[in-house]
Amino acid sequence: MKEILQDLSRAQLETLVEQMGEKKFRAGQLYKGLMRGSRISDISDLPKPFREKLLLRFEDEPVKILETFSASDGTEKYLFELADGNIVEGVFMTYKYGNTQCVSTQVGCRMNCAFCASGLGGLVRNLTAGEILCEVLCVNARHGGTPEKRAVTNIVLMGSGEPLDNYENTVGFLRGVTAEGGIAVSARNISLSTCGLVPKMYDLADEGIPVNLTVSLHSPDDAERKRIMPVANAYSIAEILKACDYYFEKTGRRYIFEYSLIAGENADRAHAEKLVSLLRGRPCHVNLIRLNEVKEKALAGVSEKEAYRFLGVLEKGGLSATLRRQIGAEIGGACGQLRAGYKKSETSSENQVQN
Ligand code: SAH
Repeated sequence: MKEILQDLSRAQLETLVEQMGEKKFRAGQLYKGLMRGSRISDISDLPKPFREKLLLRFEDEPVKILETFSASDGTEKYLFELADGNIVEGVFMTYKYGNTQCVSTQVGCRMNCAFCASGLGGLVRNLTAGEILCEVLCVNARHGGTPEKRAVTNIVLMGSGEPLDNYENTVGFLRGVTAEGGIAVSARNISLSTCGLVPKMYDLADEGIPVNLTVSLHSPDDAERKRIMPVANAYSIAEILKACDYYFEKTGRRYIFEYSLIAGENADRAHAEKLVSLLRGRPCHVNLIRLNEVKEKALAGVSEKEAYRFLGVLEKGGLSATLRRQIGAEIGGACGQLRAGYKKSETSSENQVQN
């Protein structure tokens, strides 16, 4: 694989342009072109010989939309192909107040949560900062957005991968996507979701990029959490809460807990009550999700009624909580399911990409 030009900051592009013997203002044209989501070969205000020189060293299109699945509610899911042929997935969701894109940070994942399809084949590799940025740039362009008038207004790091397990690249992406003069998505419109890698949560709090911190809790009890999230063997819930408090202290932003309801695991009334006593009085919000059943995993979701009952206990206990609406339900797939389905259909020549 060649290098990824989108890995470079605006300042680094200036140095590069100078090193290549080009006039300084070319860096601005190059940066603008990249931020519009253009391929190097399509940035027509740059002289052709310069573009050709760049193409000897850099990927023309580091991230391509390989397939798009559209739902009637406006949701689109994508399979992105990276320059080395690896596949990651993404989602674009339209809301009244703007559009949210969900991005992947790793090919696969090594966290191996019991309910998640992303970890099925383990971690293949980290995405670079520029590759994650390209996911956003190409989807923004696809929807007619420009850096000046964005189609992607909000970003969630909730695709495949554990963002804090790919820390440097994730932070590089956050710097690139929030940079003034670029696509400049505000940090307050970005949510980073982690399974709770405590030391990196502290590091993130100190970066000065006040994104919304979301933690996948999925249980109020350490022993039970270990059953579904191996990472719980490394960090306790108490340690996670302490790191969340530090994040709040540094950024002033309240944090969010994701809680995917799994029948017979974490969805009883007793769990809801324990969650209330754990979280009451904290500057947090709880996002309940009904499990998206993954066919390789023997875990079942709860009914809508049960989910609302669980929500009711949280609300009555004084927590701020919501049940996430099911979007794009007919195109299925959560966290790695599209990619897992694609890989399977490649090997078994099935045409089915979702269950
Ligand atoms: N690695 C990050 C991002 C993961 S995806 C993290 O762990 O937070 C975003 C959310 O979806 C996480 O809360 C994850 O636990 C949850 N999730 C993964 N697979 C799911 C499934 N099949 N059904 C419901 N939620 C799921």
